[in-house]
Amino acid sequence: MSGKQETHEFKTEMQQMLNLIINSLYSNRDIFLRELISNSSDAIDRLRFKAQTDVDILGNDAEFFIRITPDTEKKTLEVADNGIGMTRDEVMENIGTIAKSGTSAFLEALKNSKKEDALAPDLIGKFGVGFYSAFIVADKVILTTKAAGSDTAVRWESKGDGSYTIEEVKKEKRGTTILLELKDPEEKDDNNYTDEWVIRQTVKKHSDFVRYPILMEVDKTEPIPEAEQLKDKEGKPLSTTRKVRGDETLNSMKAIWTRPKSEIKEEEYKEFYKHISHDWNDPLSYLHVKLEGVVEYTMLLFVPEMAPFDFFTAERKHGIRLFSRRVFIMENCKDLIPEYLRFIKGVVDAMDLNLNVSREILQQDKIVRNIRKNVIKNVLNHLGEMDKETYEKFFDAFGVVLKEGIHSDFENKDKLADLARYKTTKSDGKYVSLKEYMVNMKPDQEGIYYITGENISTLINSPHLEALKAKEYEVLLMSDPIDEWVVQALTEYDKKPLISAEKGDLKIDEEKKEEKTKDLSSLFEFIKSELHEKVKEVRLSTHLKDSVACLSSDEGEMSAYMEKIMKATGNAAPNTKRVLELNADHPAISKMKEMFENSKKDPKLKDYSQLLFDMAVIGEGGKIDNPSRFNRQVGELLIGAF
Ligand code: ADP
Repeated sequence: MSGKQETHEFKTEMQQMLNLIINSLYSNRDIFLRELISNSSDAIDRLRFKAQTDVDILGNDAEFFIRITPDTEKKTLEVADNGIGMTRDEVMENIGTIAKSGTSAFLEALKNSKKEDALAPDLIGKFGVGFYSAFIVADKVILTTKAAGSDTAVRWESKGDGSYTIEEVKKEKRGTTILLELKDPEEKDDNNYTDEWVIRQTVKKHSDFVRYPILMEVDKTEPIPEAEQLKDKEGKPLSTTRKVRGDETLNSMKAIWTRPKSEIKEEEYKEFYKHISHDWNDPLSYLHVKLEGVVEYTMLLFVPEMAPFDFFTAERKHGIRLFSRRVFIMENCKDLIPEYLRFIKGVVDAMDLNLNVSREILQQDKIVRNIRKNVIKNVLNHLGEMDKETYEKFFDAFGVVLKEGIHSDFENKDKLADLARYKTTKSDGKYVSLKEYMVNMKPDQEGIYYITGENISTLINSPHLEALKAKEYEVLLMSDPIDEWVVQALTEYDKKPLISAEKGDLKIDEEKKEEKTKDLSSLFEFIKSELHEKVKEVRLSTHLKDSVACLSSDEGEMSAYMEKIMKATGNAAPNTKRVLELNADHPAISKMKEMFENSKKDPKLKDYSQLLFDMAVIGEGGKIDNPSRFNRQVGELLIGAF
């Protein structure tokens, strides 16, 4: 019942990607086997998960296996499994596109990096290129698959040269078979993947702990039963053993997390990480904890070194796998880990879980809640114990995610605040913790100052910071959107309030303020009436030292950055009128005051009010609404200057 064969083109991006994988990963090509085995193992996991609620799905094929079949003559290698398989649509979706959302970003990054070759493997690590690694060793890949519960099977075939074909075929049993037509090795010493010994070594090295048997048919020597032995004249057996073809299980299937820590080699942890995470790189660090108490469980958790390109867009696939007494329960178990730790990968194995847990029960399960609490505790402690260099590497990759917790996990807010790092006006581009900030506070300093905005370089030069800089107060530069939520939740740290350097009154140098305000109040009233559509008040600035004007918000109001974020994410944000702050010590203001006192009708006053507002907008990196008017006004002023 073979159906019509259809040919599809790969997306151009994907072809580029494929060439890149093939060229840059040649020296690592062993890993293609690990990738295919991991996929098979995942497919069996998925099937088992489904079978918990749909027992019939297994039929009479409930002995799970992954089978490797080399053929030295045909120069092929086959990896087969009796996992969940794929439907035609799934094949098109999973195999026809590659690292969907991240591909363009990746190729862009590559283009921008001058040294393409040196960087490629590193960047490639950010992708789950998994299946496609087959093309490093194969000229042609033929995937045949039959989804559990389906009557039809699909065959996908490609030479990795820009197109693939797909057609309906017959396949007796459920599962996926991947046949590789192997390339000739480039060098004499290159591994030949039809060689039993090479296969054995590769599986042992990269996939030993896979929980399903990885089978290969080999020549075995077995004892001949007494009755079948041929004897010589004296009655002695001619031979007591004979050669037979039979299955050998290539992997030990030993769950690594159940072994004592002292016996596990660093290398084994790394290989296990790569298997479960589908990451090409080593993990940044890991924690392996066994808890014994009311609830007994083991966790083996990994912190990746970097975020995959699609980390922020894609639905997460490989998170925490939950086991109960080494029996797999589910992959990507979101109940065990909060969203803000979603970068963590690994395994949790609990002793006394109800095996038939459904999602809803799991959420309410007391044991699960207890484990979750301990997962958080252990991960946060682990992060806190990292050396500075490693931790900063981690924070660069996942700090933005971790900070979400300050807003969402009230219970661990303080711990998470300890883990937050910021660059500051004094840190010279380096990270500072809040603890370190506190140590450097000036004796008369009221609190911890911060400013939020889009990028560090605009922030560090913000006019809002002038007065604080003059007093030598350090200011945290917060440039992630999530920081707006952080400061909402984190109103104080170690009993010191967090104070916005942009909002409200800074309450420094209070003494002279009142007098100056009195002096300028009628001018300010005038400016306010000129700008009434844009500002709600004109005020003497507590922020400025050198600049003449800036805009600020009142305490409790949205910052300009927050307003921008809200608008960018399609939320209705009120167009809050802000406060125009003016610097009384600036000569321009005293001159304007003179002008105002001489003639309140001078048309220049109107112009200058506009100009002050525009300057304030530009000062914070904003866009003015009438640039040509601004140009004309500045032009006129310039003429007057000569
Ligand atoms: P990853 O495994 O990191 O998601 P791959 O490119 O290796 O990336 O695989 C893409 C998808 O194809 C998998 O997520 C899975 O849905 C599907 N797939 C791959 N191999 C198999 C298999 N042996 N059985 C069932 N599905 C598979």
